[in-house]
Amino acid sequence: MGLRRSGKSSIQKVVFHKMSPNETLFLESTNKIIKDDISNSSFVQFQIWDFPGQIDFFDPTFDSDMIFGGCGALVFVIDAQDDYMEALNKLHLTVTKAYKVNQTIKFEVFIHKVDGLSDDCKMETQRDIHTRANDDLADSGCDQIHLSFHLTSIYDHSIFEAFSKVVQKLIPQLPTLENLLNILISNSAIEKAFLFDVVSKIYIATDSSPVDMQSYELCCDMIDVVIDVSCIYGLREDLEAAAFDNQSSSLIKLNNGTILYLREVNKFLALVCILREDNFDRQGVIDYNFLCFRKAIQQVFELRNKALTTTNINNHS
Ligand code: GDP
Repeated sequence: MGLRRSGKSSIQKVVFHKMSPNETLFLESTNKIIKDDISNSSFVQFQIWDFPGQIDFFDPTFDSDMIFGGCGALVFVIDAQDDYMEALNKLHLTVTKAYKVNQTIKFEVFIHKVDGLSDDCKMETQRDIHTRANDDLADSGCDQIHLSFHLTSIYDHSIFEAFSKVVQKLIPQLPTLENLLNILISNSAIEKAFLFDVVSKIYIATDSSPVDMQSYELCCDMIDVVIDVSCIYGLREDLEAAAFDNQSSSLIKLNNGTILYLREVNKFLALVCILREDNFDRQGVIDYNFLCFRKAIQQVFELRNKALTTTNINNHS
């Protein structure tokens, strides 16, 4: 959600539909709720609902129980290059209304279009928005509502990073995944590992060492290279198969003694690791550990799928 022209549709197109940021200049304004089901092409099984900026919560046809009842995360986009006072009012209205219906919603504020701001200005804007939004909540006695803030732009990787953080909060298996990644890296002398949803370049988990933006960008770039090369050279006309499968892997050596190593985990997920070239001597061990890791991931999600099927059966009966 967010005001008109704050960048909602652009974010959705860039993150989930591979639109290049420049093309978003020509997007038409959203004037009705757009529901985008991305569960077929990606690991993240959810729908994104893009709301027109001018939506009026007090309109009797606005069914807030239906809209907020099943909502996992509410992303509110604020244009940081514009005057944001009206956006802050709308944010306040939206979160208090949504919280009344559903107290489990995660509220995520994207302070967006920060590519136009200097580093100092970014920090100052974030501090100002953070303080004002929380003061508004405190003044109306709603300080139990927690807002998370992210600085984003579609012109760099920050939007993918922010969306990764949002999605991770919605994955109940996250601690298990982090644990598996920790075990994998410590037994394979890997410096950093990300588990990526390949299509969206969202990372659904990483080990518990801190994430630095540069490593994340490198891994995203690697995914782009692998997908491009696979799509150009990996398609076989006689098979209607995808250009890459769970056997796909790729290795890139950088001239600073670092290696990027990608292995496909399943149709949607890939593991991308960063490690020192010297430690890659033991590739056999890494590959063996990876197979154990992949098996564990499959088991985690088999459990999830079983649980989902049971819930569906129960819902239908
Ligand atoms: P919506 O009405 O909230 O869906 O907004 P749109 O997605 O249509 O975006 C409005 C305008 O903002 C478009 O011209 C986009 O190109 C521009 N825009 C979106 N994201 C960014 C960003 O991160 N940085 C900059 N500079 N412009 C952006």
